[in-house]
Amino acid sequence: MIVDVHTHTPTHRGAVPVAERREYDRWRPDRTVRTTNAWADYDEQVAAADVSIVFNIALPDPLAETGIPTDPARVNEATAEFAAADPVRRIGFLSVDPTAPRALEEAERCRVQLGLRGVKLGPNYQRFDPLHPGAFELYAWAQEHGLPILFHQGASPIREAPLRYAHPLTMDEIAIAHPELRIVMAHMGHPWQRDAIVTIRKHPHVYADVSGLAYRPWSFWEALRLASEWGAMGKLLLGSDFPIATTAETIAALRSVDDVVAGSGLPRVPAEEIEAIVHRDALAALGLAREAGA
Ligand SMILES: [Zn+2]
Repeated sequence: MIVDVHTHTPTHRGAVPVAERREYDRWRPDRTVRTTNAWADYDEQVAAADVSIVFNIALPDPLAETGIPTDPARVNEATAEFAAADPVRRIGFLSVDPTAPRALEEAERCRVQLGLRGVKLGPNYQRFDPLHPGAFELYAWAQEHGLPILFHQGASPIREAPLRYAHPLTMDEIAIAHPELRIVMAHMGHPWQRDAIVTIRKHPHVYADVSGLAYRPWSFWEALRLASEWGAMGKLLLGSDFPIATTAETIAALRSVDDVVAGSGLPRVPAEEIEAIVHRDALAALGLAREAGA
């Protein structure tokens, strides 16, 4: 089974009207990215995955900056409707600003009424300190109910998003305080992949996804070599970051990660460790496996 743990909720149920098409060159160095997409675009671009995890981010002042138009009043509803339309293949995560009043109430509503099964946070985009006491209340709630949290980690092209709120070493402190909480660190914390690696290797329930890395081929190879040498490859999960990349191109990039060092004396990333990332049972790792017959 192939699980894509990192995709963003498509913005439009039907075709995107011409006036609402958005395309940006800031999200990856090699091509532009369409940030408004139809449900059908999602299905096409995530088709290589048997199951995908999908979410929005509850942003403070929507999108002016990121160019991903999410209606702030429907952040979680939009994800829940999309996930419910294909419940075998899609798992929806909720998003809240944990420092906002009634954040826990909203999270509980999303869990119980909307059927969302995990949490997506981008502390830098949402502009909250991930070590804030209000955030710790949300982590404790997620741990109690068995909801994994996927955190944006590392670089962002958005000027107003504080890098300090996206550093992998904050995840170490969160994991120390919440030993049963399942955490996914997006993008292996790029460009702090080594800080992400030392964090995932020491915490049994902390993982990192490989999204957002492939189009910087040297650091991608280096990150996977480091993960292999540190014995952390078993903690890496497949993620595409749709709409920034497709699942198929992420898998292809993993399989060709050694191309950048071809002809050199540099060591290869073991192919069996790469295949294990592609086929890893991320649902079991994150406590999301469906019960038999469900
Ligand atoms: Zn993302």
